[in-house]
Amino acid sequence: MPEQSPTSAPTPNGKTAMIIGAGPAGLMAAERLAGEGYAVTLYEGMPSAGRKFLMAGKSGLNITHSEDLETFLTRYGTARERLEPHLRKFGPAQIRDWCAGLGIETFVGSSGRVFPTAMKASPLLRAWLKRLDGLGCKIHYRHYWTGWNDAGQAVFKTPDSPTNGETTATADITILALGGGSWKRLGSDGKWMDILQNEGIKCTPFKPANCGFEVNWTDHLIDKCAGQPVKPVTLTCRTQTVRGEFVISKTGIEGSAVYAISATLRDQWLETGTATLTLDLAPDRTLEDVTARLAKPRGKNSMGNHLRKSLGLDATKTALIFEVTPRETLNDPAKLATAIKSLPIKITKPRPIDEAISTAGGVAWEELDETFQLIKRPGTYCLGEMVDWEAPTGGYLLSGCFVSSTLA
Ligand SMILES: Cc1cc2nc3c(=O)[nH]c(=O)nc-3n(C[C@H](O)[C@H](O)[C@H](O)COP(=O)(O)OP(=O)(O)OC[C@H]3O[C@@H](n4cnc5c(N)ncnc54)[C@H](O)[C@@H]3O)c2cc1C
Repeated sequence: MPEQSPTSAPTPNGKTAMIIGAGPAGLMAAERLAGEGYAVTLYEGMPSAGRKFLMAGKSGLNITHSEDLETFLTRYGTARERLEPHLRKFGPAQIRDWCAGLGIETFVGSSGRVFPTAMKASPLLRAWLKRLDGLGCKIHYRHYWTGWNDAGQAVFKTPDSPTNGETTATADITILALGGGSWKRLGSDGKWMDILQNEGIKCTPFKPANCGFEVNWTDHLIDKCAGQPVKPVTLTCRTQTVRGEFVISKTGIEGSAVYAISATLRDQWLETGTATLTLDLAPDRTLEDVTARLAKPRGKNSMGNHLRKSLGLDATKTALIFEVTPRETLNDPAKLATAIKSLPIKITKPRPIDEAISTAGGVAWEELDETFQLIKRPGTYCLGEMVDWEAPTGGYLLSGCFVSSTLA
């Protein structure tokens, strides 16, 4: 698909917009506002734009999801009500059209997730920045926002300032698109939360989302299985069950199925100080079938061979069973079958927040009107991951960041 030439600058409306944070939420806001004739200036703390977006591109850039919109909307949980009107206006179909308009073809993967054909973010980001340039947007890099001064001006720390390392700016409207609280080295350090709270704006503390968890594995399991996938498997915590695969790490568990159930697991841990994940290692067989197969004489076969031959369980699943199952259970086919169908894995805690793919928490919904404007600070809007919503992986995070910006 040929890349389209940048949109020509629209008729100015005589108003100015300042956008702080040049991640996907801020860039989309810039495109929208410039398209409406605002003179847009972006301020970004890092030396370049969209660093987390580029990092997301390393795993293919899952930009949205192809499932029907009703199912799609359920992924936003309690934030659905607030996001839905906007997701309906700018949802998966519009995101794919928007990519196409930038010359980026997308495809639907086997899981229904949508990716750019190139499976990376850099061509899209390049085309996007070119479009913004064509729309007349200016970007000031290395401008780190530190809050507002008494005159209500935004204050930035910047090496570009010839005087005291600080500069100020004002605009008719301000968009804060400062990101969540993970992967600080990519720019979103979450320090804006203190600034807003000092202004009397309520924020919900950050929590890791789409994160791994720690398990006290024995050295034996780590030596044998660290880095190995467990699949297929279903994972259950409370009332949520997820099918897929995950990876055993030196510190615990990570990977797509763990991320999918991570909010439930995290909340159980936060509420009770402990959390348990229940695995079904033979998700395509009934308990009766597993019991009957295990009851067959194993002759001279080791238990590992018996599990492999009778149930097709690989060495990693077998090691997991040995890791958490008492010896007497191993010798009782009925008890062993129950263990295989519901293997309890005790979680000690989530991995540190900085490692999480995203964060829950952020600017509380009650502080925002339906256009994402801060009620206590008219003319200032908050967009993207810095607002208190969360969603699983699957393209829902970026979709949520893009959607919010249609409001501005
Ligand atoms: C490894 C990884 C893989 C991911 N993969 C996917 C995926 O495939 N699909 C998906 O949907 N999502 C994915 N995500 C999540 C997605 O990248 C984020 O949800 C999204 O980037 C959030 O966009 P945002 O614009 O709100 O914030 P960010 O992308 O974090 O951008 C915020 C910007 O604000 C700047 N900033 C912060 N504070 C200041 C300040 N005080 N002054 C000036 N500038 C500031 C930051 O430098 C940054 O550029 C992934 C995340 C990670 C870490």
